[in-house]
Amino acid sequence: MGRHRKRFYIGGEWVQPSTSRLLTPINPSTEEVLGSVAEAMEADVDAAVQAARRAFDEPGGWVSWEPARRAEVMDRFAEQLDKRAQTIAELVSSQNGMPISMARRLEIGYPAEVVRYYAGLARTTPFTETRTGVLGGAIEVRRVPVGVVAAIVPWNYPQTLSMFKIAPAMATGCTVVLKPSPEAALDSFLIAEAAEAAGVPDGVINIVPGGRQAGAHLVAHRQVDKVAFTGSTAAGRIIAETCGQLLRPVSLELGGKSAGIILDDVDLDPAMIGEDLIAATLTNNGQTCFLSTRILAPRSRYAEVVDLFTELLRALPVGNALDEGTLVGPLATALQRDRVEGYIAKGRAEGGRITTGGGRPAGLDRGWFVEPTVFADVDNDFVLAQEEIFGPVLCVLPYDGIEDAVRIANDSDYGLGGTVWTSDPERGAAVARRVRTGTIGVNRYAPDPVAPFGGVKASGLGSELGPEGLTTYLRPQSLYV
Ligand code: NAD
Repeated sequence: MGRHRKRFYIGGEWVQPSTSRLLTPINPSTEEVLGSVAEAMEADVDAAVQAARRAFDEPGGWVSWEPARRAEVMDRFAEQLDKRAQTIAELVSSQNGMPISMARRLEIGYPAEVVRYYAGLARTTPFTETRTGVLGGAIEVRRVPVGVVAAIVPWNYPQTLSMFKIAPAMATGCTVVLKPSPEAALDSFLIAEAAEAAGVPDGVINIVPGGRQAGAHLVAHRQVDKVAFTGSTAAGRIIAETCGQLLRPVSLELGGKSAGIILDDVDLDPAMIGEDLIAATLTNNGQTCFLSTRILAPRSRYAEVVDLFTELLRALPVGNALDEGTLVGPLATALQRDRVEGYIAKGRAEGGRITTGGGRPAGLDRGWFVEPTVFADVDNDFVLAQEEIFGPVLCVLPYDGIEDAVRIANDSDYGLGGTVWTSDPERGAAVARRVRTGTIGVNRYAPDPVAPFGGVKASGLGSELGPEGLTTYLRPQSLYV
């Protein structure tokens, strides 16, 4: 059995692909093929961009609708996503290894909330304002949609990250070509079905799953006006280069290596803090960009912190992502497991001390599993502390005083997230404000639709979410009247 989707959703229709090439997403828990999906070639990307272009350029079309009318469509779209929630959760989980209990919390419900949030902003945002000129006369300042958006997403949160782009694009009147990743292409068809059922006008959302080549063709396409990318820093740099040459607006949400600063006053009772610590450091088997995977512990309590993480990670049930009791599933691909194991070997060679994990879990002969792993005795200049591992591997580093903690936290090429753990939230917030990242939490980490989310340095350019996320889909036009 398996799911087979042999057509693309382009211009509101289910269109035959240009070739018979297929993508075959694999279940990382079992290594079984889940089904097949037509793979987009350049001709398919061209067709999708043309459909988005037509929908954007059509006189009296989507772009010229009153924002409140677009918001109505968005509300219906959110409703249709909700209707498909259980199937979406199972598909996501079986494609990328996200534990099903987590997929139900993060990959359904939340993406629809993002759509509703932006529908709300479409209703309330003033898109036009009149100013009195310093030199006299009136000036109408319009904020108009940028146009056709190329949205490219990775496999780790395929639904959420797609809505981070589709929702603000729809709210502003843009049209979208979404390119899902080859590893998690199956669930993207549910987005298409939801759009169709909600009556999203033809060509506003177009979906063409494909690989790197299709993505690169989409980014450089003459008729694309903006690129919204989430993925690795390496791919982000290539995309930024292309967009630089084309002078094309681009937003980039890239990798991370965030610090989790444990202050010396923290209560390390696992019953109090354990769940939040695991959520902030290990969510989705460590395959989340913002995780606080560099744990900074005060030297006076270093051994206690290492022991706490060792116990917490050792106790996590590892298994098939679709089992209700699983808290850590497999890595999404065989390649990803090889990379993570490579980092574990490197960490050992650098002198890191493994206190739990380090290998493959016993009794799981199939599937791309790696044991949740803690490294102690790590210096911040280890590769282990500097590079994004994207797996269930944490390292614990000692620090001497707050200045040292802030220095180590900021001594990174990345700047996406972070956390501070303390019994005194005000003191925690004061430390958090000194960390140079796009987001940071005190005793929790939970990206909210109202708050801009994005990184600095090698973690990206621009923000998604919040009203700030809307502005990257708009450009100003001044009308001297
Ligand atoms: P990836 O960069 O390999 O691929 C991401 C997407 O980009 C895929 O759809 C892929 O097909 C496409 N792609 C790859 N190269 C391309 C190119 N040159 N031109 C156009 N498209 C291209 O990343 P991945 O391994 O799928 O995802 C993991 C990475 O994503 C991690 O580094 C993680 O930190 C990052 N990520 C960042 C955020 C964030 O919001 N900052 C969120 C989730 C994941």
